[in-house]
Amino acid sequence: RQKKIAIYGKGGIGKSTTVANIAAAYSEDNKKVMVIGCDPKSDTTRTLCGKRIPTIVHTLKDNKKPELDDLVFEGFNKIKCVESGGPEPGVGCAGRGVIVAMKRLENLNAFEEEFDVILYDVLGDVVCGGFSVPLREDYADEVFIVSSGEYMSLYAANNISRGIKKLKGNLGGIICNCKGIDNEEEIVNSFAKEIGTQVIGVIGRSNLIQRSELDAKTVVEYAPESIESDAYRKLAKDIFDNDNYSTPQPMEDEDFENFFKSFID
Ligand code: ATP
Ligand code: MG
Repeated sequence: RQKKIAIYGKGGIGKSTTVANIAAAYSEDNKKVMVIGCDPKSDTTRTLCGKRIPTIVHTLKDNKKPELDDLVFEGFNKIKCVESGGPEPGVGCAGRGVIVAMKRLENLNAFEEEFDVILYDVLGDVVCGGFSVPLREDYADEVFIVSSGEYMSLYAANNISRGIKKLKGNLGGIICNCKGIDNEEEIVNSFAKEIGTQVIGVIGRSNLIQRSELDAKTVVEYAPESIESDAYRKLAKDIFDNDNYSTPQPMEDEDFENFFKSFID
């Protein structure tokens, strides 16, 4: 069976790092993987390809009839990598870029090849059009939210779950990407329960993850024997095997405030 997964979360929380590392983990497992970056920053696939690849929106500017090889690039362990690209910061809507990119890929039969896993790294912000495209257009059928135990990160996760509910998406769980705060896993676990989902995996805070990013590599490639790599492998497997989905039950803002305060003394 094919998994089509979208990863959401607050800006800067670790979506792209998570997507790239679990993609690398799947590829080690001989799964065929495609990674689609839906962020105009186009940095999702950098650690898989060793550098930034041209985006679809950018390529289409000078080349009206691109072939698949102009849009899809092979990264670590033959992972197929795509960046939709989009407008320069401050102009236009990122959602357009994602739609243009997806239609192009479909027309060129990019999905004809049997992929075991397709991963979407989605722009985190709910108010942006780019948020809804992967779900609204039925490209992804499962959603995971990356969050730490920090207030703003969980606040964003609660908002995102509102968007997922509205779009009738299937939430598979929260990926706890730790910032190293007190009671972090307990807070994220309780939050997950409150909105009717689960914590699917936990990634510890680690300098090695940033070190490997400097080399434009995933930690799975840079330090395959590390506990960090094993954590991503376990997360990848648990996401692949998961069949526990739900429509999230987001909290009202006031309930969320009280929920969070109950952990702070
Ligand atoms: P954006 O919303 O801007 O696209 P993002 O959610 O994709 O951000 P990343 O780019 O993956 O976030 O991560 C932001 C920074 O945090 C990166 O420098 C990354 O190396 C670092 N980071 C992510 N996860 C961890 C971790 N578990 N430990 C240490 N650093 C981490
Ligand atoms: Mg990102």
